[in-house]
Amino acid sequence: MIRSADIALEAKGVVRRYSLGKGLWFGGGGRFVQAVAGVDLAVKRGETLAIVGESGCGKSTLARMLLRLEAPDEGEVWFDGADIGKLSERQMRPLRRKLQIVFQDPFASLNPRMTLGEIVEEPLRVHGLGNAAARRQRVREMLELVGLGSARLDRYPHEFSGGQRQRIGIARALVAGPEIVVGDEPVSALDVSVQAQVINLLQELKAKLGLTLVVITHDLGVVRHMADRVGVMYLGRMVELGPTDTIFAEPRHPYTQALLAAVPKPDPRQRGQGRLLEGDLPSPANPPPGCRFHTRCPHVADRCRSVEPVLEDDRADHATACHRWREVGVRTPVVEAAPSAARRRRDALWLAARRRQEAAVAASSQAEGRHQP
Ligand code: ADP
Ligand code: MG
Repeated sequence: MIRSADIALEAKGVVRRYSLGKGLWFGGGGRFVQAVAGVDLAVKRGETLAIVGESGCGKSTLARMLLRLEAPDEGEVWFDGADIGKLSERQMRPLRRKLQIVFQDPFASLNPRMTLGEIVEEPLRVHGLGNAAARRQRVREMLELVGLGSARLDRYPHEFSGGQRQRIGIARALVAGPEIVVGDEPVSALDVSVQAQVINLLQELKAKLGLTLVVITHDLGVVRHMADRVGVMYLGRMVELGPTDTIFAEPRHPYTQALLAAVPKPDPRQRGQGRLLEGDLPSPANPPPGCRFHTRCPHVADRCRSVEPVLEDDRADHATACHRWREVGVRTPVVEAAPSAARRRRDALWLAARRRQEAAVAASSQAEGRHQP
C-alpha cells in the first residue's frame, strides 16, 4: 500500500467519454467513446511514473484529467487536498502553477509569434510571480538549466531545432516551479539522435528541482531508462501497475507480456520467445464485454468473456487486472533487473531539491510583495 502522505496526485475511478459525431440533429445518436473507462491511479511524490499502452488506449486523456485540462465525467482527481475535477476554472487558477505539461510536438506547442524570452516568461506573468527584472533573471536561469544558456531571447521558435524547441517547452513548463510535470510523449516527435539527450535532461531536472514526473510513452526503452513505476493501459483501463524492475522482470498481465515480448532484444538467444499480439485494438466505442483484452489474449478462458477483472494489488505494490495471471505465470523476462542504487540517490536528491525549489519560488513572489498563489 502507498501511504497517503506519499501521494502527490490521485485519480479515483475516472471516466471520460467523448460523444461520437457532432451531428446537430442526431447528437451522434447518443454513441460515445469511453476514452478512459474507470482508472484508479496514485502518483507518488517524487517518483517518475510511466504510462504505456497502444495508441488510442486513453493515455493522453488520462493525463489531461490528471492536470485538470479537462474534467472527468465520473470519478475524482485529488491534488493538494481538493478534488480538482470539480473545481471551477477560477478555483483552479492558483493550482495551475503546480501542474504542468510538456507536449509531444515542440513545433505545434510553442506560439510561433512569441520570442523565446516571452514564451518562457509567460507562466510567470500569468501567475503574477516576480517583477520584470526577477522574471528576466528566472528565465535566464531556466534556459541555463535546459542547456540554452547562450540563446538569444529575441529569437522565434522556428529559429531553433526540434530538440532545442523541446528544451524551450521544458523550460516553460518548469519556470513557475511546478510540483508535478506530465510529459505526453515528450520525445516521440524528435530525431532518435536527440531523444536520449532530452530524456536525460528531464531526468536531471526532475532530480535537481524535486519534481514528480509522469511520462507517457510507447517507448519501453524510455520507461526502463527513467521510470520508477510503470502503468500499462489497455482500452481505457489500467491493466497492470508496479515497480519498473518488477514489471520488466515479472510481467503478469498477458498484455504486458505481449508488449515486452515485442521489444527488440539485444541477446539473440532471447529473441522470438515472445508472443506477438494478434488482431487490432478493438474500438473504445464498442469495447468487448468482460476483460477488454480477451479478444486478443492467448490465455482467454470463459469467465474472461463475461466478468471484468479488477486491478488487484499484491503486497509489493504490483497490481494486475487479470483473472488468470496466477495460472498463466510469468513470461518473457526481457532484460536483467536494473541496478537501483542510482534511483535511491535520485530520491534523496529529490527531497532536498524540492525544498530549495519551493524556497526560490516563495522568495521570488515575495520580492514582488505578492502572496504566493
Ligand atoms: P492515447 O493518448 O493513448 O493515444 P487518447 O487519450 O488520445 O489515447 O484517446 C483515447 C480514445 O479517445 C481514442 O479512441 C481517441 O480517438 C478518443 N479521443 C481522444 N480525444 C478525443 C476528443 N477530443 N474527441 C473525441 N474522441 C477523442
Ligand atoms: Mg496520446
